[in-house]
Amino acid sequence: MNKRKFLQALVATGVTSGGVILVAQRLLRPGSPPAPAIGTATVPAFDPAPELVVSNPQEEFELVMLQENELHPGFKHSEREKQQSEVVIEQLPNETLDEYLEKIRNFDADFKTDIFLNETNQKVLLPTLARLDRVQNFVGHANFNLIGFEETLYFARNYTEIGKFEAAELAFIEEIFNADAKSYGFFGEKITPELNNRVNQKDVQKIAGSGHYLIKGESLTHYQQIKKDVGDELTLTSGIRNNIKQMHLFLAKAFQSDGNLSRASRSLAPPGHSFHGVGDFDVGKIGMGESNFTADFSQTPEYQRLIRLGYVDIRYTDTNTFGVRYEPWHIKVSEHEDCCHNHV
Ligand SMILES: [Zn+2]
Repeated sequence: MNKRKFLQALVATGVTSGGVILVAQRLLRPGSPPAPAIGTATVPAFDPAPELVVSNPQEEFELVMLQENELHPGFKHSEREKQQSEVVIEQLPNETLDEYLEKIRNFDADFKTDIFLNETNQKVLLPTLARLDRVQNFVGHANFNLIGFEETLYFARNYTEIGKFEAAELAFIEEIFNADAKSYGFFGEKITPELNNRVNQKDVQKIAGSGHYLIKGESLTHYQQIKKDVGDELTLTSGIRNNIKQMHLFLAKAFQSDGNLSRASRSLAPPGHSFHGVGDFDVGKIGMGESNFTADFSQTPEYQRLIRLGYVDIRYTDTNTFGVRYEPWHIKVSEHEDCCHNHV
């Protein structure tokens, strides 16, 4: 599905993209928690109301653009790069090494062994995605990186602009979250196994100009060191992403992939499996926009400087064992090691 069709489908479900952000600007003033609950609560009321910070319009705009770009990667390996990739990966279930590498190099293609959503879930995919989209537009893209599942339900339940989640949508979210990702070709372990994983504002720091947050400590100091050593042209393109943000990205990718979960998971870790939940982050070159999520980034002086620093690791190399495409922009921070696979 192309981008235009994707946006048309969202609009058809009542989602508007541009104007809703203004709602967030209006509502999310510090010390001004959302209004009392209306309608029937299916989860305990949230008291006090979830903490949100005021959205910065310019940053929000950048985040909207970036999100679209995350979902529209144009990366393809060159023949030369393919020939250079020689590695032994043991015990990949039901796949030979060649087939495996073929898949992660052609991550946005359909393969005959790919696993798709069943018919029931195909139907609930778009309404669920559209509702999460409305939550994101309502709270702002920056806040949406942080909020937990119960906070998401809180906003949906209390604001008619979003609307309460249907039982089928909640069941679908839980099914996706609890599914064995290995069954459709993602081989990384669960990193943040609680759907309602909480991120406290006091534990994270917003990175000026990016609209993204990093976890204080190793993640933040690692980024600051890289920025200092690489230069002012380097920027943060994605920081911490909690499970709901990752769910939204993954479902959007699944929707673009016509329900192909395997294909979606070749571009994005399924929710609960992303190292963005525990400190990893993405970097890019200021002004490069969508190209930061393509091979073009690896051609920049910034990337060349990055890899020569000696202390920077790329999480998803071109021969990674997670089942994911090559991501030269994704910096490994967390020592939450993938215990059971060979790292290459
Ligand atoms: Zn990343």
